[in-house]
Amino acid sequence: MQSATATPVDPRPDSRLLDWYEREAADLPWRRTRDPYAIWLAEVMLQQTQVNTVIPYYERFLRRFPDIASLAAADLDEVLKLWEGLGYYSRARNLQRAARQVMQEHGGFLPRRAAELQKLPGIGRYSAGAIASIAFAEAAPVLDGNVMRVFARLTDLDEDITRSATQRKLWALAQDWLHPTRPGAWNQALMELGRRVCRPRQPDCPRCPLQKGCLARDRGRQNELPRRRPRPERPHHDLVVALLRNAQGEILIQRRPEDGLLGGLWTFPGGRAMAEDASLEAALQRCLRETLALAVRPGTALAPVQHGFTHFRITLHAWECALVCGPEESRSPETAWVQPEELGAYSFGGAERALIANWLTAATRGSATPR
Ligand code: SF4
Repeated sequence: MQSATATPVDPRPDSRLLDWYEREAADLPWRRTRDPYAIWLAEVMLQQTQVNTVIPYYERFLRRFPDIASLAAADLDEVLKLWEGLGYYSRARNLQRAARQVMQEHGGFLPRRAAELQKLPGIGRYSAGAIASIAFAEAAPVLDGNVMRVFARLTDLDEDITRSATQRKLWALAQDWLHPTRPGAWNQALMELGRRVCRPRQPDCPRCPLQKGCLARDRGRQNELPRRRPRPERPHHDLVVALLRNAQGEILIQRRPEDGLLGGLWTFPGGRAMAEDASLEAALQRCLRETLALAVRPGTALAPVQHGFTHFRITLHAWECALVCGPEESRSPETAWVQPEELGAYSFGGAERALIANWLTAATRGSATPR
């Protein structure tokens, strides 16, 4: 097996990659703007999310919040509603926190240097490098999953790329190989190459502008790299929630704390089933007693919803419930009674949205009663 110390061809001195990028770059809305705010927004949305998914969200978000000031002044509920379905909601919360910080500390102008950008909530080394290089032409490197894969293959890097020592090595390479005069185009070209040509499976080496000098291709190892340790099996949790109606037919929903998973989004009251609960229904009754001092009687069960998060999986179980006793008219910033047709105005996570869809489907079949 070859070591990573063999010398690949430095791709900078000739213009193969930049020429390819100019010829092949996809026409994406954030590439048609010089507005640092719009570039920042795109970088945040593109973390963890596919380009085609991001485009409509990006355009809608910019129409509603065309600048940092409008985002900073917005209600978080509205920001989250626009983000609904994009996932990783801490990105939206941090984006707004950062917008407020920019208004207070930088007069409404995004800082131009990567080191300053990294002081804002939600902007790490990768995002800071991307924004500073693309919007302000600072010679700041980027290293995302796409760039790591390209570098690991160009250098035939026979190391686990999730190790921090390996990542340091790759960051150093990203800095060394950064194009001196066109850092923004260079960084975007590397990311685009990883996304479209040097793909995780079956890299398209014959179409690659960097094939000359790529050590992995020379050695026939492009399909084996990059190396990463296998991800551990994600644990599974059973979550139980109540679809609880009052005499007016309204349903009780609850806002999640802002600083947790899906923070600021709405859900249905409930919690996590524990091994010591006698049944899932008993778990639901315990959760509602502990969290909202409500006694409920579970009735019709809905089809459970399976959902995956980065580090765990859940099954969401739900029952239409009758209130046995408790503060039916409780109205606080954390809870709300809403008519079923009003649920669409609130932002929910993916599992709850699937649950609402199941509920409406069951109602049309006459096996549940949302209306
Ligand atoms: Fe990736 Fe193949 Fe290009 Fe090497 S030649 S960088 S393996 S696509």
